[in-house]
Amino acid sequence: MPLKNVIEAKKQKGEKIDNKVRYIQKHKPIFSVLEKIKLWPSSSGILHGIKHLTRDGNYIVIETHCHEQIKVRISKNSRAARWLRNKWAERVCTVCRIPSWKVNKYLNTSFK
Ligand SMILES: [Zn+2]
Repeated sequence: MPLKNVIEAKKQKGEKIDNKVRYIQKHKPIFSVLEKIKLWPSSSGILHGIKHLTRDGNYIVIETHCHEQIKVRISKNSRAARWLRNKWAERVCTVCRIPSWKVNKYLNTSFK
């Protein structure tokens, strides 16, 4: 489901939309960012919910709520960091069932 539709559905249900803008430092280490927002943008443009996150040396091991295991190398300008900052993931994983407030919070997060 497209990210914007998640918010649209929330509105239609008459749920309150939180418009508070939150900030995350642009150069915050990727591990801390993931730990904070618990969302993972896959290279196919889908946003997954992070169930578990561990650090293994120069790598981050991620387990998503849809039971995918991902191992990524920590780098200063990782793809995931760029994708999160620029909000390039267009859809949310339907298996992960990311709560709409979390999607809303993410959309209101500004990386600067
Ligand atoms: Zn997923």
